Amino acid sequence: MSQPRLSWSQKASRYKLGYFDCSRDKIVVSSILDSSNVPSYVVEHVLYHELLHKYHSGKWVNGRMYCHTTEFRGSEWDFKDRTKALVWLAENLFPEEESNKSSLKKEPTIIPYSKYIEMMKEKGETL
Ligand SMILES: [Zn+2]
Repeated sequence: MSQPRLSWSQKASRYKLGYFDCSRDKIVVSSILDSSNVPSYVVEHVLYHELLHKYHSGKWVNGRMYCHTTEFRGSEWDFKDRTKALVWLAENLFPEEESNKSSLKKEPTIIPYSKYIEMMKEKGETL
C-alpha cells in the first residue's frame, strides 16, 4: 500500500480526530493532537484507523456505503495500544465526563469501544 499524504486539520476538533480523503489520498489528523503533551501512541492510533480506511474498502448495503465494517473493526484491534489510546482520549479530550475523572478512579477505567462510539455519535460526529 502506498503512503498517503498527511496533514493537520485547520480546526482543532476533539470530536473528529481524523479522516481519510480518498480523492486526494490524504489523511487529515485533528490539530488538537498537534501537541507534545499528546503521547505518540494516541496520534498513531488515529493514523492507524484512517489507514484502515485506505486498506479496507467499504461495503455497499441497500444503497448505503458502510465503512466501519466488521472486518474493519476487527483490524482496529491489531493496533496494540488501542485501549491505552482510547482511555487517554476519553480522559484528556472529555474530562467533563464524570467517569473519566482520574481523581475519582481507583483503577484505570477501560472505556468500552461501543461507549466511545456512542459519545461520538451523540456529538454528531463519526470517527
Ligand atoms: Zn473511520
